[in-house]
Amino acid sequence: MSEHCRIAGTVRHSSVDGPGVRFVVFFQGCPHHCPGCQNPETWDPEGGGETPVEDLVEQMRATRYLDGITLSGGDPLLQPRAVTALADAAHEKGLSVWCYTGWTFEALMQGAAGEAALQALGHIDVLVDGPFVQDLLSRDHIFRGSSNQRLIDVPASLASGQAVMASVW
Ligand code: SF4
Repeated sequence: MSEHCRIAGTVRHSSVDGPGVRFVVFFQGCPHHCPGCQNPETWDPEGGGETPVEDLVEQMRATRYLDGITLSGGDPLLQPRAVTALADAAHEKGLSVWCYTGWTFEALMQGAAGEAALQALGHIDVLVDGPFVQDLLSRDHIFRGSSNQRLIDVPASLASGQAVMASVW
């Protein structure tokens, strides 16, 4: 039986969820409940709709003029097998993989989201980490809502065992 995941929706061509033009999957379910969250309708893990992961992969493969994919939400790392499948398919197509999460890189390394999420991390290029903090709302931090959130180079961070910032340009 094919793998399913629960999503709030997709955007085929986004220019606001990372550099270039990106295919975005908004995952359903988020345990962080940040005050001021822009997408509270994605919090309920039973909300949204169930979709075969393979259908999302096919949609992504069929979408032209992409630079990358972005996994957003909700928190994608609640569904690590879908994250891994989508990330691997994107890399096969030569696309970069960004992922937003409410956990910090350090918390993920300590197993806060479980072993499968930690494994999924190894398939991501850039992690935008940490909860949205209303008091740290910032328009100056591109692709992030608040200044505590970081753009993390995941391969370099996993290799060195500490968060290494991504140079996006
Ligand atoms: S982690 Fe993101 S989706 Fe989840 S509550 Fe915080 S801002 Fe909203």
